[in-house]
Amino acid sequence: MDDCIFCKIAKGEVSSFKIYEDDNYFAFLDISNFTPGHTLVIPKKHYRFVWDVENIEGYFKVVQKIANHFRNNLKYTYVDTLIFGRMVPHAHVHVVPHNHDSEDWKNALKGIGELQRSDSTRRLCKEDGERIAEKFRID
Ligand SMILES: [Zn+2]
Repeated sequence: MDDCIFCKIAKGEVSSFKIYEDDNYFAFLDISNFTPGHTLVIPKKHYRFVWDVENIEGYFKVVQKIANHFRNNLKYTYVDTLIFGRMVPHAHVHVVPHNHDSEDWKNALKGIGELQRSDSTRRLCKEDGERIAEKFRID
C-alpha cells in the first residue's frame, strides 16, 4: 500500500532501527521505546492483520527466532509477545523482552497501555535507537 508507513519501512523508504531482515520479513524497534528492545516484526508484503498473512508458519518462525535470540543470547527471562492490530493497519507482532522485576517491565506495562492511545508522543531518538538496535540486532 502506497501510504502505509510499515510498507515504507520494509522497503527502506522510511528509516528504522533494524533488528532483523530476510526476504519476506522485517523487524525493527518500536519507535515509542517504552522498554529497550521492544521490537515489531512485520511481513514485507502488506496484510491488514496478522491473521491474513498467507505463510503464517514462516512469519511465526521469525517471531520465534527473535524471541529466542532475546532469551538465549541476551538472557531475558520473559519475552512478551502481543498482537493488537490497531494503530498501524499493517500486520505486526510486538516482541517485548524484559526481566519481571526490573524497571523495564514496569515501563513495558505502562507502555502497552499507552501504545493504544493515538496521542502518545514518545519517540526514540537517533542516538538511543542506534545504541539499542546494536544490542538487540540479529546479524
Ligand atoms: Zn503496509
